[in-house]
Formats: sequence, structure tokens, C-alpha cells
Amino acid sequence: MSQLPAVDSEYLLNLLADLLNTPSPTGYAGKGIELVDQAMQEFSFLSSVRTRKGALVTTWDGAANDSPRGMTAHADTLGAMVKEIKPNGRLKLTRIGGFAWNTVEGEGCTVFSSQGESIRGSILLTKASGHVHGSKVNELKRDDDNMEVRLDARTVEAEQTRELGIQVGDFVAFDPRVEMVNGFIRSRHLDDKACIACICAAIKAIHAAGQKPAQTTTFHISNYEEVGHGAASGFPSNLAELVTVDMAAVGEGQTSDEFHATLCVKDSGGPYHYGLNQHMRKLAEEFDIPYKVDIYPYYGSDGEAFWRAGGDVAVALIGPGVDASHNYERTHTDALVATTQWIIAYLLN
Ligand SMILES: [Zn+2]
Repeated sequence: MSQLPAVDSEYLLNLLADLLNTPSPTGYAGKGIELVDQAMQEFSFLSSVRTRKGALVTTWDGAANDSPRGMTAHADTLGAMVKEIKPNGRLKLTRIGGFAWNTVEGEGCTVFSSQGESIRGSILLTKASGHVHGSKVNELKRDDDNMEVRLDARTVEAEQTRELGIQVGDFVAFDPRVEMVNGFIRSRHLDDKACIACICAAIKAIHAAGQKPAQTTTFHISNYEEVGHGAASGFPSNLAELVTVDMAAVGEGQTSDEFHATLCVKDSGGPYHYGLNQHMRKLAEEFDIPYKVDIYPYYGSDGEAFWRAGGDVAVALIGPGVDASHNYERTHTDALVATTQWIIAYLLN
């Protein structure tokens, strides 16, 4: 078994907590991208640019540049926008990204007004009180019409809510509720902030060991993944390979778990690149990385976004197992370290 540079898991978890606590719903992911930009700036050997679309593209010159590589993860998350200000002053929302309303029912949230105000509130069923609505609390279908934001401000009519500065189109972020216990990380939006932290930890580990990537590598931190086109653009035209780093789907029928990294060989978009998959398996075996191979039934990735946009490269997908994805998620430090090791092994070989 060959040795890899050591992963600084404290750095990884601190960066992850900072990222998780930075709201960045798709379309309003700027603060998340900015935080990653700052983390990358700590490494003087990297050079970063923002795409016009708002993604962060960071380049690390490698020992060679005859087969340039890309690696992508996304800073945007699920969220919502204000669809209507209701006559009772509460907010009707439209969802950003694919999630079910019951997964955020009762969650705290922040509304970001276009004037720069942050207004707190919570997401509730329209018939929320058991003492008022009895069995309807259980029976009412969780859909756009039956969910609303109750603002923590004195408003009982639309005009009062408008006076708070809230308008149709304002972004809404859900509280992540980050908690780290016994090596577990429980939070919303581990998808895909966990993988950004893994990438940064891999860069740190390689540099600390006095090494650099085998090939010049473009790190693409995308800001529109949850709506399907995050990494569709932003790579150099001579790119040969793209490794997407995104969460693995854990649950009944899945091989993935919270303690391993997973190679996804097929998802809703079809199979990934066989040759690059074989290479990733070989690296995992060679460096004794705890890994699984899996298929995700309802899943698309930014690697496929690049393929659909015409990218002529080999694409693979790896990532840590995340339980209850697009819900109140959880993973374990072991899966994050395994993913980071895999990234390191890929970059160095
Ligand atoms: Zn994701």
C-alpha cells in the first residue's frame, strides 16, 4: 500500500462549518462562492477567476499539462423564493431545487430582501396549530399552496409585509442547523458543501507535503448545480477529464454509507465514463481508501451538466455518503476523510 499525504480533518471540519453557516441558495450563492474564494486565496500557488455566471474557477499548475484535469463541486444549495405576499402578511414560496416540502416543515429561515435586509421566520403548514385544525395538521397535503413563511415581524396584512422591504422574488434560505457529534456532521446542505471542504483539505494536504498535481487542474466551484446547469461552462477547452465531487445517496437498496466514499457508476443521467471509473477504482485499491460503488436512482450531477453542454471529456463522480439527502442530512468524518484521500490520490497520480 502506498502512502498519501495526511488530511487535516480539523481544517476540513472548520471550513465545512463555516460553509454550512453561510446561506447560498441557487441564484443567491454569492456569499458561499466568496467564502470558498477566500479559502483558496490562502494558497498562494492557486489562481482564481469568477466566471460571468458567478462560478469560482481556480487553477493549480501541475507537473504536466498534456492531459489537463477538472474537478467540480457546488456551493449552491436548495432554497426558495418569495412567490406571493399573502393577504395575511405571510409568504407563499416557490422552491429552488428538488425537495419535498415536508423536509423543511417547521424549519427556521431567512428572507433576503432586495434592499439588503435579512428577515427571520419559519416555514409552516397553513393549518399548523393542532388545537385549531385537529386532524387536518396531519392530513393536509404539503404543497406550494399549503406551506407558508411566518415572519418574525409584526405583520398581519400584505402591506405591512411590503413595508418590511419584502418583495416577490426575494431569496429564502433554510437554517442548516449544524451539529457535530461523535464524528457525525448533521446539517442541511452537506450536499455539496462537504465536498468543497474535501477539495480544499486535499489541496492543503498535497501542498503541506511539498507536492503538486500530476496534471494542471481546474477546480470549478459551481453556483447553479441544484437546477441542473452549474458546471455546463467554465472549463479550459483542452480539458481531458472531469471528476465531479458530490454526495453519495445513502438509504435502502444503496451500497453507500456515511463511513465510505462512493464511486457512482450510474445515475438518472446514465452511466459515467468507464475508463475514468476504472482509474478511480484502481486508485482506491492502491491507496486503501474505504470506498463503495453505487447507482443513484434519482440523481443528476454537474459532470453530466458539462456532458450535456457538449463537454468532450471523461467524467466520473465520487463523494461521501450522505444520509437523508435533500432533507436534514448527515455524514461522518470517516466519509469526508475517505473522499479527501481519493481526491489527493487522483490529483497526484
Ligand atoms: Zn449536490
